[in-house]
Amino acid sequence: MAQSYESTRNFELKAAASEVVLKGIADDGGLFVMRDLGERKVTINSLPGKTYMEIAEIVLSILLDDFSKDKIKECVRKAYTDKFSAKEITPVAKVGENYVTELFHGPTSAFKDVALSILPHLMTASYDMNKMTGEIIILTATSGDTGKAALEGFKDVKGTKVVVFYPEGGVSKVQEVQMSTQEGENTFVCAIKCNFDDAQTGVKNIFTNEKFNKEMAARNKFLSSANSINIGRLVPQIAYYFYTYKKLIEKEAVKIGDKVNFAVPTGNFGNILAGYYAKMLGLPINKLICASNENNVLYDFINTGVYNKNRELHRTISPSMDILVSSNLERLLYYLSGKDNERVKDYMEKLNTGGQYEITDEMAEKLREDFYGGCVYKEDAQQTIKKVYEEYGYLIDTHTAVAYKTLEDYKINTKDETVSVVLSTASPFKFARSVYESLYGRTNVDEFALMEELSQKTKVSIPDNLKYIKNKKIRHSEVCTVNEMESFVVKASNELINEVKND
Ligand SMILES: *Cc1c(COP(=O)(O)O)cnc(C)c1O
Repeated sequence: MAQSYESTRNFELKAAASEVVLKGIADDGGLFVMRDLGERKVTINSLPGKTYMEIAEIVLSILLDDFSKDKIKECVRKAYTDKFSAKEITPVAKVGENYVTELFHGPTSAFKDVALSILPHLMTASYDMNKMTGEIIILTATSGDTGKAALEGFKDVKGTKVVVFYPEGGVSKVQEVQMSTQEGENTFVCAIKCNFDDAQTGVKNIFTNEKFNKEMAARNKFLSSANSINIGRLVPQIAYYFYTYKKLIEKEAVKIGDKVNFAVPTGNFGNILAGYYAKMLGLPINKLICASNENNVLYDFINTGVYNKNRELHRTISPSMDILVSSNLERLLYYLSGKDNERVKDYMEKLNTGGQYEITDEMAEKLREDFYGGCVYKEDAQQTIKKVYEEYGYLIDTHTAVAYKTLEDYKINTKDETVSVVLSTASPFKFARSVYESLYGRTNVDEFALMEELSQKTKVSIPDNLKYIKNKKIRHSEVCTVNEMESFVVKASNELINEVKND
């Protein structure tokens, strides 16, 4: 098996793609990267006429190079057939003079669906390829979006169970109902009496508890994670950059070879890193515009070369970007440093001990060739929602608004006229209150009524998965303490699953 991947922190820690999908993180705590990625290319000429799924197959075959073509085709088919409400999976809209790629037509109305719909299938395929048997148990602590997307992705996938913990009272009403009404015989949800950080630490402790993992293994149960550093989540996201480009060619917005900009609302740096990978694979990208909210660690990093997480975390109206440590950035450091594992390791040690590191001038220069960093605060984001709606009749959510405004700022600052695309990461109805209040001012109406009102006023329809949840049966109502998390996992692992329908 070709061992194409290595740890960002040690080139001797090598693994094949299928092993990397199962392991998630390298044994030394590094992330898995492909050393020769820049030598692998997607033929841009071949894109026009292809469907989303065909483009996804091309991209996945390059990066998951020990999977057979047939296996990849099968995974793509299972992930995307009839799971997205848009036939195109990620349609591209024209809004003013910009383009918007809508990544939110999946089962939970957030962009994480694109990757979490296919991850379970990549995992079970990797399992077979590595001749492993038994049950995969996915463990996740969530502050909202990831948990629901993981539940939907793994729902009724044979050979897997998915266990999601969320902080009691620490997610939005809609997010809570989304999780408590989750269907599927292999899904387990529990609210924890603690905050998100403690829930996450609880999950980490389970992963690193050797005795516990041995006992599970003895019963043929294996714990795994659906974390965004898993290559199985990163790689599927590269596909929509290529798909967007092909749509721009078909719309005659660009000619083959013309460059485009992408503006990306960024948190853990997974989405935008997929854009950097697309560029390495040959997609003509001019700038990747990294948009942050009040938590502007990345904005500072791109503009100064210093990454400093020693600051307060702000709670914002774009909560999925409220992050101080963007894990996937480690992969970018690896490529910027000229694949210098020792240097990456040094930066990560500095981050762990003192909370900051500074890259060399040479790296910072390379960084700014590919990336532009901007940040947008609450009021500007709200005004952008209003302006985009009033001028173009197009409704965007709070995360997308941050990227849209960052793009506008970029254009004013640089006078760059390159065709530009905003990646839209959530349905406006997922953050109905903030969107509604941006348009019409404060209100006390409850979240579900607000969705209806927003829909009536704007004539934009509510995605089915959000529209009908309030009538759905509550199927998960367990609450436990941090100390009881392990026993909840044991209980879930003991549950017998009837014949599941999705083979
Ligand atoms: C997760 C998320 C983001 C941030 O994406 P990263 O890959 O973590 O940078 C942005 N918007 C929404 C709606 C999200 O759910």
